[in-house]
Amino acid sequence: MANVFANKDVFKDTFQTRVEQIYGVKFEESTPHQRYFTLGTLVREYISSNWIETNEAIVEGKHKQVYYFSMEFLMGRLLTNNIMNLGIRPVIEEAMNELAIDLNELERIEADAGLGNGGLGRLAACFMDSIASLGLPGHGNGLRYRYGFFEQKIIDGYQVEIPDKWLQRGYVWEVRKSNESVEIPFYGHVQIENVDGKEVYKHVPAEYVRAVPYDVPVVGDVANNNKTVNTLRLWSSEPTENKYPDHISAVEYEKDVRNISEFLYPDDSTIEGKILRLKQQYFFVAAGVRWAVRQHKEVYGTLNNFHEKNVLHINDTHPALIVPELMRILIDEEGYGWDQAWEITQHSCAYTNHTILAEALEKWPVDLFQPLLPRIYMITEEINRRYCLKLLELYPNQPEKVAELAIIGYNQVRMAHLAIVGSFSINGVAQLHTDILTHIEMKDFYQMYPDRFNNKTNGITHRRWLLHCNPELTKLLDKEIGTGYHTNTFELAKLEDKLHDERVQKEIMNMKYARKQALANRIEREQGVKLDPNSIFDIQVKRLHAYKRQLLNAMHIMYLYNRLKEDEQFRANFHPQSFIFGAKAASGYYFAKKVIKLINSIAQKVNNDPETSNLLKVVFVENYNVTYAELIMPAADLSEQISTASKEASGTGNMKFMMNGAMTIGTLDGANVEIHELVGDENSFIFGLNADEVNDYQQNGGYNPWNLYHTDVRIRRVLDQLVNGFLTPDKEEFRDIFNAVTHNGDEYFVLKDFDAYVRAQEAANQAYKNRKKWTEMSMINIARSGKFSSDRTIQEYADQIWHLEKLKF
Ligand SMILES: *Cc1c(COP(=O)(O)O)cnc(C)c1O
Repeated sequence: MANVFANKDVFKDTFQTRVEQIYGVKFEESTPHQRYFTLGTLVREYISSNWIETNEAIVEGKHKQVYYFSMEFLMGRLLTNNIMNLGIRPVIEEAMNELAIDLNELERIEADAGLGNGGLGRLAACFMDSIASLGLPGHGNGLRYRYGFFEQKIIDGYQVEIPDKWLQRGYVWEVRKSNESVEIPFYGHVQIENVDGKEVYKHVPAEYVRAVPYDVPVVGDVANNNKTVNTLRLWSSEPTENKYPDHISAVEYEKDVRNISEFLYPDDSTIEGKILRLKQQYFFVAAGVRWAVRQHKEVYGTLNNFHEKNVLHINDTHPALIVPELMRILIDEEGYGWDQAWEITQHSCAYTNHTILAEALEKWPVDLFQPLLPRIYMITEEINRRYCLKLLELYPNQPEKVAELAIIGYNQVRMAHLAIVGSFSINGVAQLHTDILTHIEMKDFYQMYPDRFNNKTNGITHRRWLLHCNPELTKLLDKEIGTGYHTNTFELAKLEDKLHDERVQKEIMNMKYARKQALANRIEREQGVKLDPNSIFDIQVKRLHAYKRQLLNAMHIMYLYNRLKEDEQFRANFHPQSFIFGAKAASGYYFAKKVIKLINSIAQKVNNDPETSNLLKVVFVENYNVTYAELIMPAADLSEQISTASKEASGTGNMKFMMNGAMTIGTLDGANVEIHELVGDENSFIFGLNADEVNDYQQNGGYNPWNLYHTDVRIRRVLDQLVNGFLTPDKEEFRDIFNAVTHNGDEYFVLKDFDAYVRAQEAANQAYKNRKKWTEMSMINIARSGKFSSDRTIQEYADQIWHLEKLKF
């Protein structure tokens, strides 16, 4: 096929012709959406030959590959990402200019693929980009939710959730492969038959659900002659073709079936123990494992070497059913004995732990699990029985210990234990998090399996989070340090040679100003609040959660407001500061929603007070998502990373901000620890309790927040203002927030860290006044952010866990 992107003229002709062919309208009369869709179609067609070649190269080279199983892939938009990775954006841009079409406008038409909640799903998306860009064979496996993460509206200060109809106008990147559909069994019972003196287990399902794959190409960066196009396979649930159940009506059945891939659970960090969620998990796991097994058998004709050629990666515990499912296939369908099946399974699976929050640890009641997945339950029981025999040897006289560490205990299936026992590798996502896992949270497992545990500090794809989202900085860097950092982010370090070059400093300042202006423009257009780009842009964007402590940020703003209004000298020394928040709260998370309302009430008060409105601005941006993040990250001066130490496994927002030159104001939590190690106290604002201190308090039943209420007048004043009508006429509106940090013991140490946070904020505000110095600090952050490219992370996974080799073709 001729290359339609070979030059602008060929592309221009083809583009116009195709719009007319597809839509039957004259090009001049076509809509922006029709043009966007045609461009996407041409790009997808252009990708297809490399897609085919990648799959051939994997088969011919007998390459080992990874299947990355994740319930979430927070992909955002793909057009810009794809045409940049393919190196064809300049040709398209030139042609569009001649056609008087704004390419940026076409790019904005694409709906975000919001198939994830936040950090975990976005990490999976960054990993997809890095795996392909490093030329490694690896595919994503997930669910094609008909509704992605909800769209957020703020009405009268409250969050309102609207269904995300991202598929409504079609999704140009997906290819439906109905010929590769598989049937997934649910309910029913297990029949034990005697075949030649051997017991054979047969699941007799009551219901089948058809899993239909939709493949999305994952285009690697063409740099280094890389042509890799991997696959993100998303499964959609449909009624079976012919095996209709007889115990429910066809209408009822069809509704149940479609429900499986209907909604993404909008809960971050807490687990909803609903049967639909377990159905979703088994559905995409069973379909994905069949996919991997089938591909393997086509090439090798046997599963004996399955673990030598495949890794099934378990992203958090959600896909942990991979373990019993692969066992089932090996034993029931392929006739393996238990021991050999276990050998293959346990050497195929690798697990990443993402959290130590107790409320996020997945447990399924046996009463719910067993009827839904009778054969899988039976196998899980047997895995547990054999494992408990080992535990009994290790802890001969401690039945409680055995019960505590078992996979099934107190009538619950513990998914983390299943994943640990069934995997050859278990990793945490930042050094501190891995240390907490091995020394505290999973200490007993670490003692049992010390070689399985390892750390892989998270990363972000610098292609999206620098090259694409910050063209000003990219241009500047290209000019000053060359383009080597595009493929090796450690070369960003070269910027340090220019640290004291006033011309470069000036350009960095101009870049930051331009990015702040761009964000301010959108905020003014959408929310009617005008921000001054000369003020400090202090930004906290992430899911709303008590442990992330947006409340600490909000309380500090209330304190600042009070102080600015009555302390003349403080006022005179204060550099204007704009506080920007973006966050979605899970729909059932009462406290989180109250904090959103609180921030909006503070914004109302502060922004409309003529005494402070030139000094202090507060904005809560609506519907924070990947595309919004691309505008926000480059615009920050200060990156708020203020979780209670030990609670944030890694964070990745912190890395996006750093790479774009923001200074971290944060606790020593997650990957902030590693940022701090790289830039030092001089180039970050670290404050508050550390993880050990938090742990010590927690072991001893917390602390008494009333002491702080009674001794710190700043804290007392702010807390009183929550409940005395200062912010809203309804004095009860924020009563539960008041109670959380007082009567209820302040579980997340908001008051305890308040004074330290105020001091860190003061230091940051004063530091900003020396713009030259601040710019140097900013440059150091950019220069030392190379470690946080997900290319580094993925190279470590590939070398140390997956053992993958770069494709050659
Ligand atoms: C990076 C990202 C996150 C994760 O942010 P954290 O600060 O690490 O929690 C969440 N949502 C979106 C849209 C992101 O881009």
